[in-house]
Amino acid sequence: SANLWDADPELFSLIQKEKKRQEAGLELIASGNFTSLSVLQCLSSCLHNKYSEGLPGERYYGGNEVIDDIERLAQKRALEAFNLNPEEWGVNVQPYSGSPANIAVYTGIVEAHGRIMGLDLPDGGHLTHGFQTPTKKVSASSMFFESMPYKVDPETGLIDYDQLASSAKLFRPKLIIAGISCYSRPLDYERFREICDSVGAYLFADMAHTSGLVAAGIIPSPFEYSDVVTTTCHKSLRGPRSAVIYFKKGVRSTNAKGEAVLYDLEKRINNAVFPALQGGPHNNGIAGIATAFKQVKSVEFVQYQKQVVANAQHMAAKLIDRGYNITTGGTDNHLLLVNLQGTGLSGSKAEKILERVSISCNKNTVPGDKSALNPSGFRLGTPVLTTRGLVEADFDKVVDYIDKGIKLGLEVVKISGPKLVDYIRVLDSEQTIGKKIEALK
Ligand code: PLP
Repeated sequence: SANLWDADPELFSLIQKEKKRQEAGLELIASGNFTSLSVLQCLSSCLHNKYSEGLPGERYYGGNEVIDDIERLAQKRALEAFNLNPEEWGVNVQPYSGSPANIAVYTGIVEAHGRIMGLDLPDGGHLTHGFQTPTKKVSASSMFFESMPYKVDPETGLIDYDQLASSAKLFRPKLIIAGISCYSRPLDYERFREICDSVGAYLFADMAHTSGLVAAGIIPSPFEYSDVVTTTCHKSLRGPRSAVIYFKKGVRSTNAKGEAVLYDLEKRINNAVFPALQGGPHNNGIAGIATAFKQVKSVEFVQYQKQVVANAQHMAAKLIDRGYNITTGGTDNHLLLVNLQGTGLSGSKAEKILERVSISCNKNTVPGDKSALNPSGFRLGTPVLTTRGLVEADFDKVVDYIDKGIKLGLEVVKISGPKLVDYIRVLDSEQTIGKKIEALK
């Protein structure tokens, strides 16, 4: 059959345009990454064509002998990536992405309308951690499960574990989520475990953002303390867009008579993924997982993750030098949160102004923000630019461009008042930052 450029030149040219945008700009979206050629080759392979509902050896369709081998390889490597013993941990590699993986965990472990507690989205949690506003249940995780958020301390920006412990005693959740989308300090999994044990809750770690750093052994691992762990594969892990769920096997606890109580998560998680929530697995993505988890074991990957953190810490320090307020005063991982409170510039305007000069980042709430709709900060992450080979010295220039963009925004606020249209006009006549970014390529 015809190549895309012949079959659909209009779409092909749009894809080329996006490729150029990715190459010419500075991608500082903390959740993104540029995956490897071998992952892209898996994604566009013939594996895409095969239906294979069920698990290896137990399919609902014929012709799956090769697919079974591929899925078993992905499972084996997914366990090896975090040095997990297959007697103690099982894994499901079929979730289409992070959100379905998390909903599968709740479906499998928490009964409908059972209780969950996660870090509030404005405080750095994810939508799927039970997010709701005072007037609206926004996520399926709050529509179909009862959610009570826990928060960060607005002064320090750090998770308030004492508040979580006392709320958990009142709310009695079935499961507590330890996971972040915008939080730059290590999670205290041991404390989470203690709180879960005090109320008989499962500990669920969603390490989507940081799993690459965990695999490289440079930030604490959740596995020692958790009952179930999910991760997306496409963020710091640098694999395909998909996700995996790890579940504990073996002895969970002992009862009053001293008898072993076993985990029963394997069946519950597997059945939640299929048939409860999904149909046929995306075998091209599963092959991508297999090859991404092979890369995780390489020396280059560990080096990459160290550089990701070094770049983020360098960027935070340089921004602080220039007078920026970085939440928690820095970072221990791949992301940082710039707090613009009191500057006159909102997170949305900062995002727009930086987009105008080919810097992609995202507006974000900062601790203490009154409204999630009008956030006062923006989030920066280093996984993509580190994949592109940038090191600390390059980030000096990146910080320079960010600073110029933001200063321009502040100037416009002074001159014209806080109207977005005015920023855009000034930026359209301001080409210098964009040109410098071109020079970085
Ligand atoms: N969990 C966390 C902590 C995330 O940050 C995200 C996405 O950013 C997800 C889950 C959802 O992943 P996906 O976008 O693949 O559904």
